[in-house]
Amino acid sequence: MNQITDKVLPVCDLCAKPIIEKGGLDINPAVVMDTYIAWHKWEREIEGQMYQTSDMPDLPEHHWRTAHWECTGDDDTYWIEWDRINSPEKAMGWTKHLSGKVWFSHTDWFDLMSRLGYSVYA
Ligand SMILES: [Zn+2]
Repeated sequence: MNQITDKVLPVCDLCAKPIIEKGGLDINPAVVMDTYIAWHKWEREIEGQMYQTSDMPDLPEHHWRTAHWECTGDDDTYWIEWDRINSPEKAMGWTKHLSGKVWFSHTDWFDLMSRLGYSVYA
């Protein structure tokens, strides 16, 4: 039973066709890491100082894609196969795993979970 497709049939962000098999989630960790490094640099610069929200650097939030494996054509992405994240329990496991990555908070992971029908407060 594929619980994601029972709720919301994911669509490939690249070709806009439904992902039924050989698909997954991906993101380019090198690009996200650049944002993390910029954030960390700013944190070091303001260490011990008072600051306002408006002082914070305007850094991008990086988007996880839903995609067919064939459509990505990018070997440098962090890839999660559907069959490894096709239930709320598996998604929770991935959330725990990914939250240990320094770049995790610079991605839209929780928006993605909502798009996939994994609402935290359902
Ligand atoms: Zn596609």
